[in-house]
Amino acid sequence: MNDRYAVIGQPISHSRSPWIHARFARQTQQDIQFDAIEVVPARLTEYLRHFFADGGKGLSVTLPHKQAVTQLVQELTPRAAQAGAINTILLRQDGALLGDNTDGAGLVRDLTQNLGISIVGRRLLLLGAGGAARGVLLPLLGLAPQEIFIANRSPQRAHELVERFSKFGKLRAGGFEDVPARRFDLVINATAANLAGEKPTIPVQTVGTQTFCYDLAYANRDTPFLSWAQERGCARAVMGLGMLVEQAAEQFQLWREVRPDTSSVLVALRAQISSAAAATE
Ligand code: NAP
Repeated sequence: MNDRYAVIGQPISHSRSPWIHARFARQTQQDIQFDAIEVVPARLTEYLRHFFADGGKGLSVTLPHKQAVTQLVQELTPRAAQAGAINTILLRQDGALLGDNTDGAGLVRDLTQNLGISIVGRRLLLLGAGGAARGVLLPLLGLAPQEIFIANRSPQRAHELVERFSKFGKLRAGGFEDVPARRFDLVINATAANLAGEKPTIPVQTVGTQTFCYDLAYANRDTPFLSWAQERGCARAVMGLGMLVEQAAEQFQLWREVRPDTSSVLVALRAQISSAAAATE
């Protein structure tokens, strides 16, 4: 029988994770099954117990569960403990559940290696303070930006991140209305606002022609955040497909102890997204 894995979240039908992991498995000749399962917050504990009791080997965890699930595993990797959020669970040989966070490594790899973006000395604006923002903050600070301003709909959550991470670099925080009205070098959207079809309510001066805009979210066509950035003249605005594939490769390596090649999967995923967009035009 093949080993079972799944991605859990709510909503989940849009997830490309099963498609990506199926390609990694074929490429590395691993016999696995990977499903996408919608799990509501009230059923999270019960679902985890059931999945692993039933022979499941590992889970990918997406919104809105990344913080809650830290309470449901026995051990955290250092990067998951620092983030206070998990996107990966591994059932160890001894029966204990290990929580990891591969989001930051995936984003950093996409920005620096796939897209050739330099972060050193740059001014960053991070929108959002949920599970994904927690996962990417420390790896971004590790690239020595001049500063990161964290803006969130609920400002208190952004301030909590400053308290947690300020010893690692220069951080400021506030609500969207508190974002300084001057150009940032890089604006990263880590909110779930796209799901509601909403555009950011930050000052228009934050984005200029030289700003690089990165949306963690992905869709068959430009997200509301990317459309908003392009309307402001932003020449480089990309969706988080590269991050998705890179963070999945880190998960796959943890689960299967083999590193898949990401470049061919990313090319195929981009082609699939383009043809899905063309089919709906
Ligand atoms: P989460 O833990 O549920 O956090 C959601 C965040 O979005 C919070 O900061 C929340 O603000 C904010 N938000 C929700 N609705 C909003 C709205 N209508 N307007 C403004 N802000 C809003 O979710 P997450 O796990 O951090 O995921 C966030 C996004 O990143 C999702 O789109 C997810 O798909 C994407 N993501 C992509 C990748 C990738 O590999 N490409 C990896 C991880 C995540 P409050 O604190 O005020 O509620």
